[in-house]
Amino acid sequence: MTEIASRLEEVRGRVADAARRSGRAPDEVELLVVSKTWPVDVIGEVVAAGHRLFGENKVQEAEEKIPRLASDLRWHFIGHLQRNKVRKVLPLVEAVHSIDSLKLANHANRVAEELGVHPDVYLDVNVGREGSKHGFNAEELRGELDALLGLDRLQVCGLMCIPPAAAEADDARKWFAALRALRDDLERRSGVPLPKLSMGMSHDYEVAIEEGSTIVRVGSAIFGPRKTRMAAGGPDPEPA
Ligand SMILES: *Cc1c(COP(=O)(O)O)cnc(C)c1O
Repeated sequence: MTEIASRLEEVRGRVADAARRSGRAPDEVELLVVSKTWPVDVIGEVVAAGHRLFGENKVQEAEEKIPRLASDLRWHFIGHLQRNKVRKVLPLVEAVHSIDSLKLANHANRVAEELGVHPDVYLDVNVGREGSKHGFNAEELRGELDALLGLDRLQVCGLMCIPPAAAEADDARKWFAALRALRDDLERRSGVPLPKLSMGMSHDYEVAIEEGSTIVRVGSAIFGPRKTRMAAGGPDPEPA
């Protein structure tokens, strides 16, 4: 077994254990393997180990890599999305985790209609109200929820967050709990189910699952640390 395949197995085991600790079956939590910066041959090791669900965060990289990998893989877009890139992304992915404004959602809805697709979307919440991050804040989202839910081409399935950076995984727990509480509140107000919570990355995915995550986005815990100089077309990074 390759190192990447054994780390994948380890993460799968930890996801399953954390799901059980949160009173759920292991298959109630999805593992989105974040393949950003890694070339297709390295991603192929994860595919060979039987994994099918991947996330990318840059449009150009997604366009270059996705068509070169098996057509039965499922892709989610997780990076900040500019309006002028929506038309490129929607044909490639089944879900977008980074809908961070009503303006972007309106545009994505129009493009989805033109393309004849019905993507799943997560509303990206800036839980720590950080100036450096995109995303809705809670008040905005309460005010705009009806408009967002009225977009008939977007399946609004839930919320996503990237909490403020923290030294300990457990420091993120309060932010994950806050996203879940916001989700519960939005469901109550709208009467519309928002079953999905996209939260948890390599350093804190177990805590996120304990707090209700339904999909964790994990890259470096599987592939090893990313090299800074990536970009498809750049030198291939070495697996750690
Ligand atoms: C890179 C990235 C991840 C994965 O990060 P790791 O720490 O490598 O697991 C998850 N979510 C988003 C939005 C990312 O950009």
